[in-house]
Amino acid sequence: MPGYDYDLFVIGGGSGGVRAARVAASLGKRVGIAEEYRFGGTCVIRGCVPKKLYVYASQFPEHFADAAGYGWTVPEASFDWPTLVANKDREISRLEAIYKKNVEGAGGETFHSRAMIVDPHVVHLLDEDRTVTADQILIATGGRPAAHPALPGHEHCIFSNEAFDLKELPKAIMIEGGGYIAVEFANIFHGLGVDTTLVYRGKEILSRFDMDLRRTLHETMEKKGIKILCHSVTEQVRKRPDGRLEALLTSGKTLTVDQVMLAIGRIPNTENMGLEGTGIEMTAAGAIKVDDYSRTNIDNIWAIGDVTNRVQLTPVAIHEAMCFIETAFKGNPTAPDHETIATAVFSQPEIGTVGLSEDEAVKRFSDIEIYRASFRPMRHTLSGRDEKMLMKLVVDGTSRKVLGAHILGPDAGEMAQLLGIPLKAGLTKDDFDRTMAVHPTAAEELVTMYKPTYRVRDGQRV
Ligand code: NDP
Repeated sequence: MPGYDYDLFVIGGGSGGVRAARVAASLGKRVGIAEEYRFGGTCVIRGCVPKKLYVYASQFPEHFADAAGYGWTVPEASFDWPTLVANKDREISRLEAIYKKNVEGAGGETFHSRAMIVDPHVVHLLDEDRTVTADQILIATGGRPAAHPALPGHEHCIFSNEAFDLKELPKAIMIEGGGYIAVEFANIFHGLGVDTTLVYRGKEILSRFDMDLRRTLHETMEKKGIKILCHSVTEQVRKRPDGRLEALLTSGKTLTVDQVMLAIGRIPNTENMGLEGTGIEMTAAGAIKVDDYSRTNIDNIWAIGDVTNRVQLTPVAIHEAMCFIETAFKGNPTAPDHETIATAVFSQPEIGTVGLSEDEAVKRFSDIEIYRASFRPMRHTLSGRDEKMLMKLVVDGTSRKVLGAHILGPDAGEMAQLLGIPLKAGLTKDDFDRTMAVHPTAAEELVTMYKPTYRVRDGQRV
């Protein structure tokens, strides 16, 4: 569009923003993108990527222990936290450079600056003290950990952002929350040798997942030595003269630890961006309100990813970016599909899941079949590790459609990705039954559970 500096200006260089900028630029559009911190965003810089690297790091003690059953003698191992942090930093710097280079390589222009919208077609780049104009503006500023100002002593607490770069590994940590981040970090810190306590306000961790997996993961984590206190909330955090922290819980218990980490959800980054002045509508939760096509109430301003608080997952932001490109630049209006999203929790053991949990399915369907297998995976036979794998299919007894697939155990995340395809395609249990198994694998269990373990009819287990 002549008259503007850019066809598209993107605010936020995370997974969603970078994808939109890169693809738009590769279509020949004049694209600018501003990122105030580091290209790559939460996922690359202080989320999924470093988290997974730390998960790998934390798994080695179990690998060393398991090796004995396979004939190996492993000398006493030691761990160096600064080495892990430094190696992680090197890897994310490499990825950060790739993200930036990909946009520039496609012809886009990158800015290291905070950006504010001053008018529906005007963006002010604060760090450059420069104003640019754009035909279309895309907001992809993501989110950040929810603060907890109501908690006395909250200033002593850290969030996942800081947890990655602690100067030293704490001897003891308390983590508040029972969601993805709390559970993943509890397993990471425990695996690295930290005395770890998870404090969760509800009755069982991971409230949005299948109850069978939640209970089994809880038991397995406790068996490893992670302390989990449900029905508990921190009332106060106090710093002792020796620098250690005391967390006072509603149960009356006091925990003495070196770090208290809060993982109580994430909130959209929408402040000080000029949104109010431009008249962009927000939801009650402070997210940018968008229609089915990620368009805000202002015709040429769009928003994708965590800032819209639809589903806070990296692949969702990327998918929304691709749909935005179709809609805004290819004349092919495409609404992102947020149904049946496969996801993983990188706990130890892992959770991989897609579709409806048993409880959700029972609420929506009158005749449910549950296929459930709990077994010791082959890799744990010689190691002697007392850990079960759990697989569960939730099937609509009437249409035979597989509504949900839930796995707890090694490589569950990898399996969830593949199970996402048949569930998205709406395949039936009969399709699963006529699929040949791959032997010997753990995943073969998914196509060899021929008889329902139980049924739930009109809410009653029969
Ligand atoms: P989640 O929404 O997963 O969990 C938040 C947890 O904090 C819940 O257990 C919630 O309890 C609890 N909580 C909320 N408010 C309070 C409070 N005031 N006091 C005490 N507890 C509270 O958020 P996370 O922060 O763990 O992660 C944010 C998002 O990031 C996730 O929803 C997920 O979408 C994404 N993510 C994805 C990952 C992956 O794909 N593997 C990894 C990490 C993050 P309750 O259950 O009772 O509401």
